[in-house]
Amino acid sequence: MSYVITIDGPAGAGKSSVAKEAAKKLGIKYLDTGAIYRAIALILAKSEIKPDNEEYLREALSEIKIELRDNEVLVNDFDVTGEIRTPEVDELASIYSALPIVRKALLGLQQEQEKYGSIIAEGRDVGSVVFPNAKVKFFLTASPEARAKRRYDERIKKGKSADYDEILAAIIQRDKNDSSRDTAPLSVPDGAIYLDTSEMSELEAVNFVVDKVNEALTK
Ligand code: C5P
Repeated sequence: MSYVITIDGPAGAGKSSVAKEAAKKLGIKYLDTGAIYRAIALILAKSEIKPDNEEYLREALSEIKIELRDNEVLVNDFDVTGEIRTPEVDELASIYSALPIVRKALLGLQQEQEKYGSIIAEGRDVGSVVFPNAKVKFFLTASPEARAKRRYDERIKKGKSADYDEILAAIIQRDKNDSSRDTAPLSVPDGAIYLDTSEMSELEAVNFVVDKVNEALTK
């Protein structure tokens, strides 16, 4: 029997790394819903479709084809995997994902991933809206400072420039956008296991998640 595990939480809480590693250990697929929002935001911004132009948005959303292939995201057959991981797209995704019309258009694509077997889905509303019947739900968080430090270290490790104060300010702003929007605001889903990873290593968080899932599967 296939099953769905969800991990929600704010930017930089370690959701992606934890979900990816846990997926490997559990032998199931990883679904990065943020990548879908990033891809759509990138393409809408490139097409100069403003967030307040509902008519153009509707038309564009009905024409854009998004495809997920293991670790790649394709928009209308173009690979945008690298392009969606920039501070500019962080901001664009946060803006466009607040629009009900965008969230509605992307719901089916996320839900249909369940057809291909067990998944661990990561996002902002995967436990509450996308997969309300998930087998186990997690809410991963960490202090804004711990999250900013991780993002900073990540960028430095990749050889990119980084400014800690700028990253922290952007994280606080993005939390505010994601939590205060009217549609699917970031919140702890009913029945979710709450995990603060501020003082935890990635491995500790992964093991916590995997243990809880295995426990639920053997019940
Ligand atoms: O998780 P990631 O940082 O890649 O997500 C980028 C942005 O996409 C988030 O800041 C959030 O605004 C939006 N998002 C969302 N719902 C999801 C996943 C991401 O609104 N399920």
